[in-house]
Amino acid sequence: MTHPVVRTRFAPSPTGLMHVGNLRTALFEYLIARSMGGQFILRIEDTDQGRLVEGAIDIIYNTLRQVGLRHDEGPDVGGPYGPYVQSERRHVYKPYAEQLIREGHAYRCFCSRERLEQLRERSGTEGGFAGGYDRHCRNLPPHEIDRLLEAQTPHVIRQKMPLTGSTTFVDAVYGSITVENSELEDQVLLKSDGFPTYNFANVIDDHLMAITHVVRGSEYLSSTPKYNQLYEAFGWDVPVYVHLPLILGADGKKLSKRHGSTGYHDLITEGYLPEAIVNAIALLGWCPKDNRELFSLEELCRDFDVTGISKSPSVFDYGKLDWFNAAYIKALDPSAFIERARSFLPASVLGDEQRELLVVDMLKPRISRLTEIPERLRFIDRIEDYPLSLFENKKSKSTLESARVALNALIPVLESLSEWSRSSLHDTLMAQAEPLGMKTGQMLWPLRIAASGLEVTPGGAIEVLFLVGRAESLRRLESGRQRLAQA
Ligand code: GLU
Repeated sequence: MTHPVVRTRFAPSPTGLMHVGNLRTALFEYLIARSMGGQFILRIEDTDQGRLVEGAIDIIYNTLRQVGLRHDEGPDVGGPYGPYVQSERRHVYKPYAEQLIREGHAYRCFCSRERLEQLRERSGTEGGFAGGYDRHCRNLPPHEIDRLLEAQTPHVIRQKMPLTGSTTFVDAVYGSITVENSELEDQVLLKSDGFPTYNFANVIDDHLMAITHVVRGSEYLSSTPKYNQLYEAFGWDVPVYVHLPLILGADGKKLSKRHGSTGYHDLITEGYLPEAIVNAIALLGWCPKDNRELFSLEELCRDFDVTGISKSPSVFDYGKLDWFNAAYIKALDPSAFIERARSFLPASVLGDEQRELLVVDMLKPRISRLTEIPERLRFIDRIEDYPLSLFENKKSKSTLESARVALNALIPVLESLSEWSRSSLHDTLMAQAEPLGMKTGQMLWPLRIAASGLEVTPGGAIEVLFLVGRAESLRRLESGRQRLAQA
């Protein structure tokens, strides 16, 4: 027997941002397809027109592109099963709903909104009926249906759930699940405006698009028996279900804004790299056989395996995300680092190869987020007031007196320097230590303080002077000297 090609789909509703949870679903769909030589499809589920958010579709495209989840079929790239936007497939669903009516698996419901609301209120207090609907129209006599249709009474089409027995399905992660059919509501399939409900369109499209694996968050687990009843009514093959575990914050509560940013683009704005986000998200519910942690997308495609998905809730840990991010930042080559860090770097650094390389050396091993860069390099463009006591430093044996001596001697030397490069600064300054009778640490300490106003800088005095530049360095050193002279 030949196995059908594995086909997964990411089926987002364009209702806002791409959150960690949506991205995890997309990633796992992608990895399941790629790890099994299959295809990954993007389908936009926009039948709930009231919930659409402008720009949300672009956010979906941008996110998938940035993280490298390339879809084989979708609204923008086309494919043999299109259209891939549900609102453009409106005509597809109605005949299927009517087929179900003819075959006794669905019925027209003419109940008014007011009646349904009353029922819902009552079922809240009295335990009521599955889904809050009393199945009033399920057994309307045919002549009554004809009369209501002739009068063009607005109506929906509902699924006729079996009233007895149970439905069992197997989920690849959660195992075998059984529910009593009496608990399943006669859900609406087609709304009175002719639009399908999300639940109906989802099943029809998964079938028509030959989807073999349905991957989604575990919040859909409870709806799955209803989908299965539809597959059964149509006589279609049920796809493999892969429900993904809940995502929690570090405190064990469902991940939300309270824990930190949960939107992909917010995380990018906070200085995380797409590949670090992908790596962290891949481990939300999936565990490789060897407990490795660092995975590129290619490695994930190779090593991902559905059996490694766990049903226990996974924790999105921002500390861990920082760790991943630091690892990916460290692994960037210099030009890639500059590219990624561009919007965070001061203009005076960009475009100057020597300065760029220095900044790469200084920052790459030390930061865990790109957003730390402006703060760490702030001294280049601006020096804050600093207390004279900074000139005193035990370790380098710097005192106000030694600082005074060093600045007095070094400023003229630096002024006469013909080339303001790292190597000339280094060679010239190092040659001054001996005549000054100082260790280099003692000599360089006041230069760093006067040039940056900071006790801690990325890089030492020479790097600081180089980055601040000749004119501004000399101005700062002179101002330090004057302050020391008056102290
Ligand atoms: N449109 C649904 C959502 O955005 C998709 C659920 C599914 O994958 O079946 O969550």
